[in-house]
Formats: sequence, structure tokens, C-alpha cells
Amino acid sequence: MHQNNGKWSRRDFLKATGTAGLGAVMAPVRQIATVTETQETIPVRSFGKTGVKVSILSLGGMFDIASNQIMMKQAVRWGVTYWDTADCYQNGSETGIGKYFIKYPEDRKNIFLVSKSCARDPKGMTRLLERSLERMNTDYIDLYFAHGISKIDKLDERIKTWAEKAKASGKIRFFGFSTHHNMETSMLEAAKLGWIDGIMMTYNFRLMHTDRMKQAVDACVKAGIGLTAMKTQGGGSVKTNTDTELKMAGRFLRKGFTDAQAKLMAVWQHPDIASICSQMPNMTILKANVAAARNRTDLSLQDTEFLHRYACETHSDYCAGCTKICESAVEMGVPIGDVMRYLMYYRSYGEFDYAAGQFKTISENIRRQMANLDYSLAEQRCPQKMRIGKLIKEAVDAFHI
Ligand code: SF4
Repeated sequence: MHQNNGKWSRRDFLKATGTAGLGAVMAPVRQIATVTETQETIPVRSFGKTGVKVSILSLGGMFDIASNQIMMKQAVRWGVTYWDTADCYQNGSETGIGKYFIKYPEDRKNIFLVSKSCARDPKGMTRLLERSLERMNTDYIDLYFAHGISKIDKLDERIKTWAEKAKASGKIRFFGFSTHHNMETSMLEAAKLGWIDGIMMTYNFRLMHTDRMKQAVDACVKAGIGLTAMKTQGGGSVKTNTDTELKMAGRFLRKGFTDAQAKLMAVWQHPDIASICSQMPNMTILKANVAAARNRTDLSLQDTEFLHRYACETHSDYCAGCTKICESAVEMGVPIGDVMRYLMYYRSYGEFDYAAGQFKTISENIRRQMANLDYSLAEQRCPQKMRIGKLIKEAVDAFHI
């Protein structure tokens, strides 16, 4: 795990000690929600109009799955049967799933398997789909996403025809896209297309109550599109050790769950969100998330208000992905939203290597100059009031261009 100059963040601490570890140092608290082998599997929900029911918790595959085969078996036992990966995930994510299906072929029919393609043309998508099938040792993928769509015009007639043919061949069952930026606009436009089965979008306690996101979700629900939420922790790209965050953690621990569990529960309170995709790179996090999924108690109105207040107080720590607002205000087409996301992977999830690798996919020319550009207009326009210029410089320093 990468630490900030040797200092441990609260999230590092959580990763290392697990939920119980944090609870132990913040007593008195109620027993933290946890699971036992004897409990039932987690709930399922309908995924749009596909006719399929999926587990409300999805195993996000951006970690070393090949080395976590026991954990995957445990995920199946607990009913976490919606698995998400992508052709571009590092650490052999798809290969690890393939290894699992060689060992447990009987489990394939029980898994709702999602993978994603970074290609944007039919030829590239066919090549990557074939590679994903081979890596995962399977004949079909349940839901295939065009990865990281921020403008719906990328999904043109050629992609529609490709998706129809891939479905007809039996290599995919459903088609859709994932979106980290300008999610609401893409969702509203997707609802009009009539051929999108599912969308995975950034969605959390910070975004779910905005009018625009509510409209986007409603439109997708009316169109029968299945919705999976990701980035549900609303992780900040600036700080992770604020007093407010620690106060909130203490509040929820006294009620018997962690703030991370509370953030999942807030999203599940929306009945039209079929599932939450969560990175669960170890048994501690899997166990905590399964416990939250099984929890029968809803957050109280006061809890929801507290989360909302916390979101307001920390708004400048969080990039909402509305890149069409800021990126046009800066020279050279700097991908501001991507840079903020890579900072979040590093600072909030501790994924330094992945974040640095992604950062290096930005063209070298832009990387070399981005720290010296003028971001004042972008900062004026940013609804979250983020200090974009400062953060860009921090990213350049952190990822050592
Ligand atoms: S930096 Fe601000 S304007 Fe740009 S995507 Fe993030 S929240 Fe939106």
C-alpha cells in the first residue's frame, strides 16, 4: 500500500485494521454490523427490463483477482454474484476470473458477469470482446459495457449494429456503458436511444439528491435501463482526514455501522438502483459490505441529513465529474476530470500504482505543461469550487511525470 510520505491516512488505517479495528479504538460503540457463515445471501433486485435479478452488491474487479480466489468463492457463498471487470484493469483482473471459472465451472451460470471495452470502433470492440472471453474462460458475457462514456455521440449507429450482432451471436446478453463524467447528460440521452440495457455511473450521497441526477435516474427507469452505482463512497480528491469525516465516522460507529457502510446504505435506499459496484480487494471489506447489504435497518432521516451536511461542508474536496463545465475553460484540452479521478484513486483508495499508470495515459505534451496553465476561469465555473490549479500541480508532483 502506498502511504503519504510515511503518514497513514484514515483509509489506510481502515484497510489495514478492518472495520473492527477502527471500532475498537473508538469505543464506546455498538457491535459493528458483520456477517457469519450461517446467515443468508444478500438481497437481489431487478436489473431494468432485462428480466434478470442481480445481487445488490457487485464485486468490482480492479484488483489482483488471481491471488484472491478464496475471497471470490466466499463472495459466491454470500450471494455476491454480480462481478464487474474490464479489459483494461490491471493486475490480471479478467485472467483471475478465468482462473476461477476453470476451478469452479459450475459457478459460471450463477454469476452475472460484466466486462467493459475501451475500444470505440466495431473492429476494436470485437478484438477486445474475444480477448475478454478467452481470458475469462467463458463463452459469453452477461453485460458488456463501452467503458467511460462521457458523450453519448460515441455510441453511434455502428456501435448499435455491433451490439445487436454480438447479442445475436450469443457472446453478450446485454449492452450498455459506464460513465464517470457528465453522467446525467449521458443517462438522459441514453434513455432516448432505446437500445441501452444497462448503465454503470458515478452515483453517491453527494450526487443522488441533485435535481439533474434525479431526472436522469427517472428517465432511465422509464426506459427500462438497469442502473449500477459506482464510486458510492464519494471519496474526496483533496483530503481524507478532515474533522468532519472523523466526526461522521464516530456518529455511525455509535449506531453500529461504519460511515463506509452508511454510504452504501444511503444509495440502496433508492429502490431503482439495482446494484452497487464496489472494489473489495480483501475479505475485511467484502465482509463489511455484505453486512451492510444484509442490514435490515434503514438510515434515519437524521442520518441522511447528516450525510447531506457532510457533503455540503466538504464539497470542494469532491469532483462531481461535470467536465463539460471546466475543461472548455482551459487550454490544451487538459482532462481535468480524469486527473481528479486519478488523485481520488491514489488518496482515497490508496491505489497509487494504478493512478500513476492512468495518469501516464495522458499525452506527454499535456502532462509536461499542465501544471503551468491558467485554471482561474475553470475554478470560477466549477460548481464544487475546487482549487483545480493547485490539485493539478499536486497530481503532477505525486505522479512524477
Ligand atoms: S473540477 Fe469542478 S467543474 Fe470540473 S468536473 Fe470536477 S466538479 Fe466539475
